[in-house]
Amino acid sequence: MITKDTLTEAADRIARVPRAHFIDGSFTTAVPDAGTTALINPANEASLGTVPKGTPADVDAAVTAARRALPDWAGRTPAARAALLNQLADAVDAHLDLLAAIESINGGKPLAAVVEEIPVVSDSLRFMAGAARTAQAPAAGQYVEGQLSYIRREPVGVVGAITPWNFPLMMAAWKIAPVLAAGNTMVLKPSQLTPLTTLVLMELAADILPAGVLNVVLGSGSVVGEAMSHHPGIDMMALTGSVGSGRSVAEGAAATVKRVHLELGGKAPVVVYDDADLDAAVEGLIAAGYTNAGQDCGAATRVICHESVHDELVERLVRAAEALTMGDPAEGEHVVLGPVISAAQRDRIAGMVDRARRDGATVVTGGQIPDRAGFFYPPTVITNVAAGSEMAREEVFGPVISVESFATESEAIAKANDVVYGLAASVWTADHGRALRAVEQLNFGSVWTNSHLTVATEMPWVGFGHSGYGRDNATYALDDYTRTKHVMLAMGAARD
Ligand code: NAD
Repeated sequence: MITKDTLTEAADRIARVPRAHFIDGSFTTAVPDAGTTALINPANEASLGTVPKGTPADVDAAVTAARRALPDWAGRTPAARAALLNQLADAVDAHLDLLAAIESINGGKPLAAVVEEIPVVSDSLRFMAGAARTAQAPAAGQYVEGQLSYIRREPVGVVGAITPWNFPLMMAAWKIAPVLAAGNTMVLKPSQLTPLTTLVLMELAADILPAGVLNVVLGSGSVVGEAMSHHPGIDMMALTGSVGSGRSVAEGAAATVKRVHLELGGKAPVVVYDDADLDAAVEGLIAAGYTNAGQDCGAATRVICHESVHDELVERLVRAAEALTMGDPAEGEHVVLGPVISAAQRDRIAGMVDRARRDGATVVTGGQIPDRAGFFYPPTVITNVAAGSEMAREEVFGPVISVESFATESEAIAKANDVVYGLAASVWTADHGRALRAVEQLNFGSVWTNSHLTVATEMPWVGFGHSGYGRDNATYALDDYTRTKHVMLAMGAARD
């Protein structure tokens, strides 16, 4: 449990986190000096110090270290790699509260949320450590007479990974765990807004992983991220981020024909039928729509509700939204809605809500930036959203839930699918057959019935359409970070 003491300890610890790249097993200063990025606690706008901005020269140094470390790391048995990843998981668990508190302070995350978020990091490491020991392939055999075929699952090489600010350490773990378990080495660039927990993880990794296996370069997407995508020494790029960044990484990677793994934005529909349990639906919407202040790629943000229960649902949703406690997470566990990450993000959300209002939508609750320190935006519910409008189709990435209505099942599915994204969706109904019909027709990589946003490490997290095509979690992630080599051995004829 995080107490006031943990938060005080975390604040002290933040001051001592190395503000440097982590290359070849140690923290190093940027070469050449390209200035710094200021870190801010979004809940109160207090300074958290600065971190250096990386340059292409820093990326070069990290790639050189990762390439040097590759033969040894790739050549170890899966069990040997697993032993070290399990040690790293143990180290994360030993620092769970501290990591959770630092994540809360750097990202403005409510305490109850971070204490659930950080354990996913060690769970991912442990799952991938074990799963890599059970690699699957077609059976070795004679598929051509006199020839024995078998498959080698090999690491791809050096993987460049780029992570976002909304779940900084968890998204880093979703890359680090499968990438390293599969025998690759890597260069990781965290978001310039939230690098602190990743740097603490490097302090833990320094005593466990061989030098060069895992390197971190700090800095912006436009400089460090671009340099990674274009780098000839990187064999594969993996990004969790916005669609625009994904496109840019894919374009950069095209020049050197790198494999690309993209986990991008979302606009998750929540289809509520007339027979749904409305209490459960509202509870699910509050949890999955406003969690992390709506800054979740799978957030339940777009309700498509049967016209007969529309008004009832909106009334209950508004009541529940207005009962949420918004504030600085440091005030205690009763705060369930923190700020959004930055002033720019808050203003972007406000701009989208204002444009929806101008387009004729009704803002039933919320919709105004509060007059207080910190980058807060209140829980907001919007109705009368025009089909095809920006609010109906674009990712808000804030605590904003819009509600549309439908008359028939096919209209509900057509509206739900009318987005370029394809990450997550849910259907709420008591009718099993109706749920199964919807599941079949929805173009989203995760579909829940009567819940939303629950994720399992053993199951893939994957997008369709503009949400990308990389698969995080499950053994599918390991597949994505390995290559298959077919070996054919001529057996010859018997020497009688
Ligand atoms: P972002 O795209 O702005 O940044 C993500 C990362 O990409 C950062 O590290 C950033 O520095 C880097 N980046 C930016 N431009 C780049 C470029 N040209 N080349 C290389 N790297 C670049 O995203 P964000 O604002 O940090 O995160 C929010 C976005 O991430 C949302 O769209 C959200 O839906 C998405 N997201 C998706 C998933 C998923 O699993 N599909 C999970 C979390 C977040």
